[in-house]
Amino acid sequence: MTNSRILVLAAHPDDEVLGCGATIARHVQNGDEVRVVILAEGIRSRGSSDAENLISELRVVAQKANKVLGVESLEFQSFPDNQMDTVSRLEVAQAIEKIIKSYSPTTIYTHNGHDVNIDHRRIFEAVVIAGRAQPGSTIQEILSFEVPSSTEWQLSPSVPFVPNWFVNVSDTIKKKLQALEVYSGEMRPWPHARSIKAVEHLMRWRGASVGYEAAEAFVLQRKLIQ
Ligand SMILES: [Zn+2]
Repeated sequence: MTNSRILVLAAHPDDEVLGCGATIARHVQNGDEVRVVILAEGIRSRGSSDAENLISELRVVAQKANKVLGVESLEFQSFPDNQMDTVSRLEVAQAIEKIIKSYSPTTIYTHNGHDVNIDHRRIFEAVVIAGRAQPGSTIQEILSFEVPSSTEWQLSPSVPFVPNWFVNVSDTIKKKLQALEVYSGEMRPWPHARSIKAVEHLMRWRGASVGYEAAEAFVLQRKLIQ
């Protein structure tokens, strides 16, 4: 990987780590610039002050978890949790367009467009719109990550997640697992798909399927060679 400007667009606090945490840590080690944007609140607020406090607490946790990965630029937006289908597609796309315009990423990591979670799907759709290959666009790669407990829970006739892009994360797998420890409130006990053990097994399996100790797997949505 050469020096790049990495933009991670995730729905909920923990998706960025579950989806590409070890790859983020690798980018940081490589000297790449990394910005993580979490678009939804992560907790259903309905405007109550208790919920507002929980959202703030979760943001502190997210900051700590991202620090483990070495991320210095973390931004939160306030789309409604698990209800991004109640927001117009245009609004989500415009929010992402604004981020892209201000940051000029070369690489975008985001959700898979066929996850169970509606926010994941809406964000992917918005990235398709906001990341269109217009003249002067800086975006060279758009990659979809898998989020355990959403991507593999989808049923037919949706499109299954078939990765075609594997990042060797043998050196950074531990950082991802440490970041998930910080997110312990979002994690579940084994054998839940969103348990730390399951996430480690997935990275080991993705690695073994291509001859690495550990890997994170992605679907390459588009690659432009400049
Ligand atoms: Zn999510």
